[in-house]
Amino acid sequence: MERKILLKNVDVPGIRTFEVYRSTGGYDSVEKALKKMTPDEVVEEVKMSGLRGRGGAGFPAGMKWSFIDKKSGNPRYLICNADESEPGTFKDRYLMEKLPHLLIEGMICSCYALGANTGYIYVRGEYKYIIGILNQAILEAYEKGFLGKNILGTAFNLDIHVHSGAGAYICGEETAQIESLEGKRGNPRIKPPFPAVVGLYGCPTVVNNVETLANIGFIVNNGGGEYAKYGVGKSTGTKLISACGNINNPGVYEIELGLSVREFLYDPKYCGGVKNGKELKAVIAGGSSVPILPASLILKTAAGEERLMTYESLADGGFVSGTMLGSGGFIVYDEDACIVRNTWNLARFYHHESCGQCSPCREGTGWMESVLHRIENGHGRTKDIDLLVSIASKIEGNTICPLGDAAAWPIASAIRHFRHEFEEHVLHPEKCINSTIRQFDDVTIS
Ligand code: SF4
Repeated sequence: MERKILLKNVDVPGIRTFEVYRSTGGYDSVEKALKKMTPDEVVEEVKMSGLRGRGGAGFPAGMKWSFIDKKSGNPRYLICNADESEPGTFKDRYLMEKLPHLLIEGMICSCYALGANTGYIYVRGEYKYIIGILNQAILEAYEKGFLGKNILGTAFNLDIHVHSGAGAYICGEETAQIESLEGKRGNPRIKPPFPAVVGLYGCPTVVNNVETLANIGFIVNNGGGEYAKYGVGKSTGTKLISACGNINNPGVYEIELGLSVREFLYDPKYCGGVKNGKELKAVIAGGSSVPILPASLILKTAAGEERLMTYESLADGGFVSGTMLGSGGFIVYDEDACIVRNTWNLARFYHHESCGQCSPCREGTGWMESVLHRIENGHGRTKDIDLLVSIASKIEGNTICPLGDAAAWPIASAIRHFRHEFEEHVLHPEKCINSTIRQFDDVTIS
């Protein structure tokens, strides 16, 4: 049986309003946390739940909270990272649009646990219409005494502000987001120090993803142990997956972690199979930054085990034959998809979004885009394929923030699993769709 935590009430008419949300048990967790629990008890429940950050990295949320510096005496902050910009990922948008109070409820409990009296929701600039929805929900929460001074008659005060990003992918990286909130250019900071010690305005700060925070209400209400009963092993709970590409039913789904990739892909309840009865060619399982896998490796691991929608199973095989759950952006390619064109498209994206601070990322993403453009347009050389692998390897692990890795992995994995397609483009350029485009004739790279 399908078990849901986040989207259980998503279809209740009017659930976006405070009254309806409250009538379904909404904000009960705030009453429980503020009146019956200490902040440390809330942290312990979150630790016990095994909840891992849902933004992509999958770091245990309770452990992240426990790093917050309580000794400095400085104000502490919670930032909700709603800068969802990863290509193929649109689950936080859905959550905020449909259930804004679920996020605010989770933020109140989280701020209480962290000892933060100010929270920010940093919303992706392109999600302008969601800012109005969030502000309306926040206003209602103030009016009902769940935000502001002396919440529910306790000594706890909390203000939540919504801040709009300006369309930069890099501001989804937590330290770049902090810089941006401070009014500066969104350049990632070198870590350490980590935000839990030196974050917003130099103060202890936790940055959590929308979906992560939306789970906190359930954990407070039911206990971390109950949450941990959902899922498998260290992949506890449920996960929102945004599915898109060549499938019959694109959309946002809440799955219990542990569901098989095969079921998610082919069951009519979820993706409903590959569109138009075509063969499956490849899947990017966790947003564009994670390695692409061919059909043969996404359904089963290299060892022949059924591949599951969990952090561990998707990573089985490392980067040789595995991938990552990442942000949950599930992109499906059918037999007609051109992997070279797709890879070039991603390379364009990462080159455009590089902040330019570190040369491996700034220069490398540009060269990868140029070389891929040349191959895609019928002017590739055999040595270009290894050149791409070489550039990717020099970016990976040598940059300030993870955007460098995010740019390198899709290209390295596409060549690892689909080298024959790149060779076909080089050896038979006449077959390339765009072989008449020649603007890169003069590019020389060695
Ligand atoms: Fe900027 Fe790229 Fe360096 Fe990240 S890896 S800091 S995006 S140049």
